[in-house]
Amino acid sequence: MTAYEGNNGVDKGNSPKKRKDNLHTDESRDSYLNQKPATEPAQCPVCGNIYANKRWYRSDQYDLSEDESGLSFMCPGCRKVKDNYYYGELRIGGSFLKNHRQEISGLIQNEVHRRQEKNPLSKLVEVEVERNEETARGEVIFHTTNAKLAELLGRALENAFGGELEVQKSEPITRVNWWRDKKIE
Ligand SMILES: [Zn+2]
Repeated sequence: MTAYEGNNGVDKGNSPKKRKDNLHTDESRDSYLNQKPATEPAQCPVCGNIYANKRWYRSDQYDLSEDESGLSFMCPGCRKVKDNYYYGELRIGGSFLKNHRQEISGLIQNEVHRRQEKNPLSKLVEVEVERNEETARGEVIFHTTNAKLAELLGRALENAFGGELEVQKSEPITRVNWWRDKKIE
């Protein structure tokens, strides 16, 4: 787990220890969001997000006219993916996962897409499959660019399939566990 370490000083000295628990507003201390293009419109060369009117749009939410070719500027979402930097973690385990892998994966993709309508910088940073040799149980871990996305994905799984959901909001990473048949340790 090195996502928060090696963050190239983006923390700007906001020590998590000094923060009160009820001030969990990860995005207020998310310095990636302060990185803005010098001129607008600008377009992310990786995902096509467009920066205009001082905010980011998903490429299908904004019409870049032909004479507005736009500056090329990587959006903060893609920058986090590139840096493997995340604020949310969703962990799914148990045999239910094994037998419903495709459904779960489809649901997660849809939910990410839906969330991007509100926040185009919501992305999966990494998907990791963890193998537990003793139980022969593969857990899947999703890292997300913001805490809210991990929480929404967990709630979407709970709504679709029932099961148990655990949301631990903590600094700097919100951890969400969802399982159907066996609690994640
Ligand atoms: Zn992008």
